[in-house]
Amino acid sequence: MKLKKFKILFYLVAIFLFVNLVFLGYGIFLKGDTPTGSLKVVFFDVGQGDAVLIRDSHSRNILVDGGPDRNIIYHLDQYIPFYDREIDLMVSTHADLDHMTGLVETLRRYRVKKILDNGLKSSSAVGEEWDRLIKEKKIFLQTIDAPLNIVWDEQTILEFIWPWQDLTRDVNGDDNFASLVFKLKHGENDFLFTGDADKEVEKILTESDYDLSAAVLKVGHHGSKYSSSLEFLKAVNPAYGVISVGENSFGHPSLRVLSNLEEVGTKILRTDGKGDVVFVSNGENLILGERREN
Ligand SMILES: [Zn+2]
Repeated sequence: MKLKKFKILFYLVAIFLFVNLVFLGYGIFLKGDTPTGSLKVVFFDVGQGDAVLIRDSHSRNILVDGGPDRNIIYHLDQYIPFYDREIDLMVSTHADLDHMTGLVETLRRYRVKKILDNGLKSSSAVGEEWDRLIKEKKIFLQTIDAPLNIVWDEQTILEFIWPWQDLTRDVNGDDNFASLVFKLKHGENDFLFTGDADKEVEKILTESDYDLSAAVLKVGHHGSKYSSSLEFLKAVNPAYGVISVGENSFGHPSLRVLSNLEEVGTKILRTDGKGDVVFVSNGENLILGERREN
């Protein structure tokens, strides 16, 4: 009888270990986690909106905007193993619903360590829930109102370059103007994120001393005609331009923007219906992953 009990216990332990191994393998291999020293940058196909995940080889996650709905959770699950429920840094470029709605859902489901925003409040229900959750969960929130460099690791820096002053009282509701603009530098590879910043911001930045050049540009405002002037694109001179766009009635992306990108020789990568755009940087080379349909 004792032996039988021991056998049952043995099988239970064996099954437990096997299940754990399967899940571990699922996390490490099937999810294709980021190789050592590399950085994975995923522009999600979230429809009309923006959402980008930056995941380093130490399994640290940066989420830049969350797209227009709660589907962000499904997208994150494709790249973050189920046992990792931590967002180390959340960046809210501005409070428009096509960027912030998914961030609110992420706040509910993940432990978020720190948030950066532009300080402009949204009076929408989503904006109110955003404020409530940050307060309830006591998340550290920092507003960008001056250039800020965050040294992420020995070869990764986040350089926040806009806004460089407090715009929370001056923009008269135009929060696109106050969209956070920042560069992610990983060794030789630079990614420029522009949120929904418009041509006015582009002009200010182009006329500044800041080196805007980047291998990858998150094309401003879903390819809207109010962004991506030729002068700005020439200053950035990106090899790749990612247009995060879905079905819309705004005419995004505009033909003018597409032709401007072609003129500077940028390869255009659209998210709409074509799946996530995935880059892996090892600090020297930049690899564009295979597109996979969602
Ligand atoms: Zn937008």
